[in-house]
Amino acid sequence: LVSRKKKPEDTIIDINGATIGDGNVHFIMGPCAVEGYEQVATVAKAIKQHGVKLLRGGAFKPRTSPYDFQGLGVEGLEILKKAAKEHDLAVVSEIVNPAHIEEALDYLDVIQIGARNMQNFELLKAAGDVDKPVLLKRGLSATISEFINAAEYIISRGNKNIILCERGIRTYEKATRNTLDISAVPILKQETHLPVMVDVTHSTGRRDLLLPAAKAAIAIGADGVMAEVHPDPAVALSDSAQQMDVPTFHRFMEEMKDMAERMK
Ligand code: PEP
Ligand code: MN
Repeated sequence: LVSRKKKPEDTIIDINGATIGDGNVHFIMGPCAVEGYEQVATVAKAIKQHGVKLLRGGAFKPRTSPYDFQGLGVEGLEILKKAAKEHDLAVVSEIVNPAHIEEALDYLDVIQIGARNMQNFELLKAAGDVDKPVLLKRGLSATISEFINAAEYIISRGNKNIILCERGIRTYEKATRNTLDISAVPILKQETHLPVMVDVTHSTGRRDLLLPAAKAAIAIGADGVMAEVHPDPAVALSDSAQQMDVPTFHRFMEEMKDMAERMK
């Protein structure tokens, strides 16, 4: 059902006025994890200034170590919802437990399924059973075919609103956190009718590479870019090395706008 052969026209998903898949570049911006109201509100205000319509933030964090910050859970979703409402933004946040999908509908505009859960088939089915857009991230070591099959799990249950997100894959290369598989973007666009976004934060793991990676994503035909923004990355409870501070985010968006102009 996700195959372009079955449905030649692009799927366009309207989220809070952001029509993802319409040929324009859309952005999902926000902190790695929700840490508190002030933190999220600061970022929400900054992203709104650039016309970004989607606010991200992790409330249920899938951390490698059990001793690392695990997220604020439902309290985090409440904070996101409040800050988003104040700035007329839509909320994107990860859900890791199939049993939380129903409850999350009250808080979220987009359910994120993270890389570690791309093949959590019960979670995919639960997300497929609800009427809420899903941002599906590519698994850490998933082939493109496995990624497409994961989306198939969701769409086969009835939920057609899926955004695919390339977020880098695990290779032998250590210069970046993951290896951004940029060619996955046109392959996914050819093989499926779904919008494709690129997460430049988790793919590179390097603040200095966020802008060039975002430019590459746009040049190769991505429908949008996700990146993390934190008021003070040095003290962030997760992903401290790769989040942008607010002034860096402003410069990032200016460069994105310049590039969009040049491509016209
Ligand atoms: C995230 O986007 O918050 C995240 C944890 O990313 P990933 O699942 O791609 O590692
Ligand atoms: Mn992160």
